[in-house]
Amino acid sequence: SKPVVAIVGRPNVGKSTLFNVLAGERISIVKDTPGVTRDRIYADVSWLDKAFTLIDTGGIEPDSDDIILSQMREQAQIAIDTADVIMFITDVRQGLVDADEKVANMLRRSKKPVVLVVNKVDDFKKYMPDVYEFYNLGIGEPIPVSAASMLGIGDMLDEVIAHF
Ligand code: GDP
Ligand code: MG
Repeated sequence: SKPVVAIVGRPNVGKSTLFNVLAGERISIVKDTPGVTRDRIYADVSWLDKAFTLIDTGGIEPDSDDIILSQMREQAQIAIDTADVIMFITDVRQGLVDADEKVANMLRRSKKPVVLVVNKVDDFKKYMPDVYEFYNLGIGEPIPVSAASMLGIGDMLDEVIAHF
């Protein structure tokens, strides 16, 4: 069967926006409210000659005791366990935060291939210096994208399918 790719990261980094760009239709809910995607959502995606199943997840809020946020974290863990490749989404506007480090540690434990995506790089010239900070996660090369402006999407997908 097709490889499975899971989109994970903190709430509000743009996971569902990116999912919708890749899925080509608006099947995932995007809201300004952090963590609005509570359930896993699936789409069939293909890039070049490779087809895969993409899973959107609610955000991972590593330290939260909140019932909804802990359920979202559980769902994300299930997606991570199911996935062949993980797209770890971060947000250049917020920069590298402690919760990103904790998500990175979760992903390291999974021993799955991770593509580190830095989203909201709407202006490559302006934000590239901030993208390099994400090397500090020690999880690989940060790939700049703008889900909203559809920039960097092809380079990101090249990286994803290279792991199949
Ligand atoms: P999720 O919680 O990670 O699924 O994040 P969402 O996809 O729901 O997006 C959270 C917020 O970030 C929304 O207001 C989006 O419009 C915004 N957003 C998503 N991608 C981008 C982007 O590339 N650039 C900018 N500037 N905003 C974005
Ligand atoms: Mg979402």
